[in-house]
Amino acid sequence: MELVQNFIGGQYIASDSKNFIDIYEPATGEIYGQLKDSNANDINLAVSSAKTAFPIWSNLTVKERSVYLNNIADGIETRLDEFAEFESRDTGKPIALARSLDIPRSVINFKFFAEYANNFEFKFYLNSKTSQNYINRFPLGVVACISPWNLPLYLFTWKIAPALISGNTVIAKPSEFTPYTAFILGDVCKEAGLPPGVLNIVNGKGSTCGDLLVKHKEIKAISFTGGTSTGKVIFENSSNSLKKLSLEMGGKNPAIIFDDCDYELMLDNIVRSSFSNQGQICLCSSRLLIENTIYEKFKNDFSLKVSELLIGDPSKDETQFGSIASESHFQKVVSYIELVKKEGGKIILGGQKVELEGRCSNGWFIEPTIVEGLDPLSKVNQEEIFGPVVTLQSFKTEADVIEVANNTDYGLSATIWTDDIEKGERVAKQVDAGVIWINCWLLRDLRTPFGGVKNSGLGREGGDDAIKFFTEQKNVCMPV
Ligand code: NAP
Repeated sequence: MELVQNFIGGQYIASDSKNFIDIYEPATGEIYGQLKDSNANDINLAVSSAKTAFPIWSNLTVKERSVYLNNIADGIETRLDEFAEFESRDTGKPIALARSLDIPRSVINFKFFAEYANNFEFKFYLNSKTSQNYINRFPLGVVACISPWNLPLYLFTWKIAPALISGNTVIAKPSEFTPYTAFILGDVCKEAGLPPGVLNIVNGKGSTCGDLLVKHKEIKAISFTGGTSTGKVIFENSSNSLKKLSLEMGGKNPAIIFDDCDYELMLDNIVRSSFSNQGQICLCSSRLLIENTIYEKFKNDFSLKVSELLIGDPSKDETQFGSIASESHFQKVVSYIELVKKEGGKIILGGQKVELEGRCSNGWFIEPTIVEGLDPLSKVNQEEIFGPVVTLQSFKTEADVIEVANNTDYGLSATIWTDDIEKGERVAKQVDAGVIWINCWLLRDLRTPFGGVKNSGLGREGGDDAIKFFTEQKNVCMPV
């Protein structure tokens, strides 16, 4: 039985807590390890270690800090296969996806901010006839990063890298469901020579360990990615200590498919955007809005392509579709599939638990599921399922599709498929979402602002926005 420990002050440290949490491999339903639900003593130790490291780390130049970030990136890259295996074991995602997306992107996160911050203006001047000013950007101090289970190391490092390069010291908490790659990141930090206390990794439940971070008076900011209901709790619980907050939350993303699109390009991408990582990417398309002229053709072609996805043991190279990440999430997805019929919808593909033989016979697998015939205001069309369930709806006019696209509480991302770019941009302007892709999906330039509107987010990550979030400005003014 593996024990996942906290990484504090540059060392793995046994938690003071008496409460163990089992860690499951969702593809087998079996427990492979445990972690401890970190308590106030653990969090205070992490805060004190981060505070001690802050003067040293924040006094380094950006160039000096970027050397450490690049070393960490190299350390992950050298162990890419090992990281990918652990990520696949924790989440149930196909190993091929962990190898091609999760771990390479974690490497890029460190490399990107190491490079990007070198050209960021940490100091600039503003002069007028009466005053001369300079504005400096300073790190905040000790900050916390809290991330979810769907893209564990990818999202963990997407927060940690900008926090560190800006000169902050960090306490980071992975999801209790998927702690392992964060755990071995500690080894990589040691090997990279990162000064002790600069990055501290604590484990435990969101409601205990996460909550202690959110309420801690010495922690100056929380960068959170997760569900909207959790984000709202964090918003409330952090208010007493007036922390800076970045909240990246849920989505119910529309894919708007016009009949004049490049059909084959669209079809391949819609399969990917609907079912990559078993639909457990916040940017996945979950509502497919199809122009009525191609609705039947799309429905048949899409169902056929999805039915060809190879469902199986995530540790096998050929697997394209793995398990749901936890039993509780599996139950949630099943409950929405049951709701489809109650709400008058029709399942046109999937909808069943997948029974595999051998190693994965007790795993939490659900077929990729396609649904039609639901009212746009039904719960299945309104609430985030965050699993392999997509709904189809047909539309006649641009105005109709914009109305349906916007009629949820969410506004994270959208895709638009058309060869008429003028129309695509016209629709993009009217769709409520922070990220809109025209004729592509998940194509990312890390300099661009990333985040959602409405219940999907508060603030933006990426590029300048991330560095601005993790710093505070000071204006020094003198008369001319
Ligand atoms: P979650 O339950 O909200 O958990 C996210 C993180 O917050 C986990 O580390 C969790 O710890 C922790 N947490 C839970 N309650 C907390 C509290 N009261 N105080 C502090 N921390 C707390 O979300 P999830 O189920 O892991 O992830 C799925 C959700 O994330 C979906 O809604 C998805 O759309 C969203 N997501 C959004 C983005 C984006 O960029 N917008 C990206 C990926 C995922 P435990 O896991 O230990 O409970």
